[in-house]
Amino acid sequence: MLAIFPTPDERFSPGCDAVPDPRPDDARWCVYRGGDLLLAAAPDDGPPGLLDAAAAAGLSLTRTHHVGRLDGHPVLAGEVAPGAALPDGLIESNLRAASSVLRPAEWSAAALASQVLHWDRTTRFCGDCGSTMSQPDPRERARRCGQCGHVVYPRVSPCVIVLVHDGERLLLTRQASWPAGRYGLVAGFVEAGESLEACVRREVDEETGLCVDDIAYQGSQPWPFPHQLMVGFFARYTGGEVLLRDGELEDARWFEPGAMPTLPPRLSIARSLIEHFLQGGR
Ligand SMILES: [Zn+2]
Repeated sequence: MLAIFPTPDERFSPGCDAVPDPRPDDARWCVYRGGDLLLAAAPDDGPPGLLDAAAAAGLSLTRTHHVGRLDGHPVLAGEVAPGAALPDGLIESNLRAASSVLRPAEWSAAALASQVLHWDRTTRFCGDCGSTMSQPDPRERARRCGQCGHVVYPRVSPCVIVLVHDGERLLLTRQASWPAGRYGLVAGFVEAGESLEACVRREVDEETGLCVDDIAYQGSQPWPFPHQLMVGFFARYTGGEVLLRDGELEDARWFEPGAMPTLPPRLSIARSLIEHFLQGGR
């Protein structure tokens, strides 16, 4: 399996056990302001990290949730108002960009916090009758309508991500919005009524015009933009010519192992799938 996630000794354990103290002294905080993650600058010019209890103490936090444990510390998610001033020593970062500075376990915690806060923000009212929703039990991540009993759990949207290979070479794709020179993999949402395997065939066909077989599961990764579960596969090329026909991609082409372009960021399953293939993991 892919080595995407942190090693066990520093692993983040997701969960929502009730924290008796709403602001535990040993907490680590994943705080967002207007969609960006707040980080504490390191005093010694080291990489920034999640906020500890002291750093979070001066913030006016709303929408707080316990999201798990990190290195034995409770991890909490919270938000501050979009225009809130930041105390000295705090910086803000896009969550994707934070993957280049946070430890993998820290980033996993921040990613789940982002997803839980999104769920909280978007389930204030019942989608069935329009009444106010609440979370009656902090140990269960479920919001319930006080009028009709409708229950909403955090949404998880499955997506496939596929490395298409043909002998030694692999197919990489590029979206126009990505940084110059960066390539990634075919990916797309699973449609209602569709199997993962059928989705792999459809997405590869729609995005590149190619046919594949020998679809093999490699690993998965929660991807909180805002609530995907990326399910990674290798698939063997069986025929067709590259044809960009759905307008989603700017380019798709074959690459040889010795001539790779700029790859997706670390901590992404796309990067892990490509590295796993290049290391002979077929
Ligand atoms: Zn309702």
